[in-house]
Amino acid sequence: MLRSHTGNKINLPSAVELFRFHGRKLYIKRDDLIDQDLSGNKFRKLFFLLNSSSADYKRIISYGGSQSNAMASIAALSKRQEWRFIYVTKALSSTLRQNLEGNLKAAIDDGMELVEVPHEQYREVVESLYSPAPYAGLGLEDGDLVLAQGGADLGAREGIVLLAEEIAQWKHQHKVEKLTVVTPSGTGTTAYFLAMSLPDITVITTPLIGSKEYLFEQMDFLGPLPENLAVIETEKKYRFAKTYPEYLALYNMFLDQGVEIDLLYAPKMLRALSETLADIEGDILYVHSGGVKGNHTMLARYRFKGLL
Ligand SMILES: *Cc1c(COP(=O)(O)O)cnc(C)c1O
Repeated sequence: MLRSHTGNKINLPSAVELFRFHGRKLYIKRDDLIDQDLSGNKFRKLFFLLNSSSADYKRIISYGGSQSNAMASIAALSKRQEWRFIYVTKALSSTLRQNLEGNLKAAIDDGMELVEVPHEQYREVVESLYSPAPYAGLGLEDGDLVLAQGGADLGAREGIVLLAEEIAQWKHQHKVEKLTVVTPSGTGTTAYFLAMSLPDITVITTPLIGSKEYLFEQMDFLGPLPENLAVIETEKKYRFAKTYPEYLALYNMFLDQGVEIDLLYAPKMLRALSETLADIEGDILYVHSGGVKGNHTMLARYRFKGLL
């Protein structure tokens, strides 16, 4: 059994389990079970930092939404590595500040230092992190690492290559001839490096944040688009972090089979997959991208709306 240097148990390679999906077999790669704090693709994307030595950095600086899964994962990792973690976000609402919950609470409990900036200054402050004229108090020093929003960093490649190797090995061991790998996209970093590392396998993804064009733009920062990467859309438009009865139905469908999916990313991906299922030959492997810890706050919203 692998352990991180701080003693946490790490389940690698992650297990592959068989489920049913609209009459088809669906294999799920249980990346949600790798590590108790760093779940799913955030474990893969931050693997290079987990693998580095505590002395390599003093502070990690990142930015993004106040309930981001990446934020909570970087906070857990920084705590283990004894790095300071500075996180820039738009000023919190007074209700959220008085009633910290979900990923934000977990991250602050792990020692994250929150820098709230006025909404209209956010862009400018984020850009200043990449320039020599930083925002007050955020002057970069030796030992600082600026991590792009959502961990969309070239360093993410290392952990995703490992995921790709595990998939290739599983495919070989189980004599799977034709395989399609499916995983949802935020920044597209996971899907991009996965497709790059598995040139003989089709990787299907769907954008959760913004349009297909926006996703391609994000991936463009990482390099040229791999030909085996397919970006698909749902017939209906879904907005990120909203509640939908059909999302809840998918959540329950998998929960009944013994696996909990996240309520932000997985449902739209699975819905898009169901709409294209008839066109896919061979076996399908869904990479569970984690995020289950955020379900608590999402389920509360479903309850509030009377959907649950
Ligand atoms: C962050 C996240 C994603 C998106 O990953 P990207 O590499 O940014 O595309 C997908 N699913 C879950 C659960 C996530 O937390």
